[in-house]
Amino acid sequence: VIQIRDLHKSYGPLQVIRGVSLAAPRGHVVSLIGSSGSGKSTLLRCCNLLEDSQQGEILFEGEAVRWRGTGLARAPADRAQVTRLRTNLSMVFQQFNLWSHMTILQNVTEAPVHVLKRDPRQVEARARELLAKVGIGDKADAWPAQLSGGQQQRAAIARALCMEPKALLLDEPTSALDPELQQEVVRVIKDLAAEHRTMLLVTHDMRLAADVSDHVVFLHQGRIEEEGPPDQLFGAPRSERLRQFLSATM
Ligand code: ATP
Ligand code: MG
Repeated sequence: VIQIRDLHKSYGPLQVIRGVSLAAPRGHVVSLIGSSGSGKSTLLRCCNLLEDSQQGEILFEGEAVRWRGTGLARAPADRAQVTRLRTNLSMVFQQFNLWSHMTILQNVTEAPVHVLKRDPRQVEARARELLAKVGIGDKADAWPAQLSGGQQQRAAIARALCMEPKALLLDEPTSALDPELQQEVVRVIKDLAAEHRTMLLVTHDMRLAADVSDHVVFLHQGRIEEEGPPDQLFGAPRSERLRQFLSATM
C-alpha cells in the first residue's frame, strides 16, 4: 500500500531521516521501533505528507508522489494527490486529538461527511458499528472529556477507520495511557491486525510489536539499523545497538 525509497528529511541543518526505504504491503503490519529522537514520528508524518522531505520517493499503491522543486524547496506538486493519499492513510496520534466541542459520534462522522462528502446516514450507521467494534458503542453521544484515555483513544481509532482508509498510521497509540488502559487499546490493535488491516505502527511497547507485526524496523539516528520478522529482531538481534535498546526497554 505504502512504500518509501531512500527518503531524506532535515529540519534546517539537522538530518532526521537519512536514507530510509520501507514498505507496508497490503494486509501487513510494520512496526517502527527505536529510541526517542531516532525519527519514528517524522518518518510516519513524511509518509502521509504531513511533513515535507527533501529527497527520495513515496509511493501509494504503486503511484509515486509527484514533486516540484528539489531539496529544501521540494513540495508535493498535486493537491488532489495529496488529499487522496491523506484520506487513505488515516493517522492515529499519541494524544488522541479528539475535537472537544463535538460528541464522540460527531468526531467519527465529521471528516467522512464534510471532507469526503459521503451520505450522512450511511456514515452514521458505519460510525456506530465502528464504535461498537472498539467497545464504546454506548459512548456515541458523550463528550470526549467524559471518556477515559483508553476510551478516547479507541474513539480516535474508530474515527480513523470511518475514513475507510487503505492503511492506518499509528504513532504510539498507547503511550499516553496508564497500563490498564493500554490493554484496551492493544486489544483493538490486535483485532485490526487479525483482520489483516495494513498498519504502520510506531510503538514503545515491544510486546505489542512482537505480537502484531509481520515486519519490525529498528531506527537509529534516522537510519534503519536492523529490520526483519519479529522473531528474528526480538529473538536474535544482530546489531549491538538493537541489543542495547532491547535490554533497556524489555
Ligand atoms: P520519540 O520516541 O521521542 O517520539 P521519535 O523517534 O518519534 O522520538 P522524532 O519526533 O521523529 O523522533 O524526532 C526526530 C528528531 O527530529 C529529533 O531530534 C527531534 O528533535 C527533531 N525534530 C522533530 N520535529 C522537529 C521540528 N518540528 N523541528 C525541528 N526538529 C524537530
Ligand atoms: Mg515520536
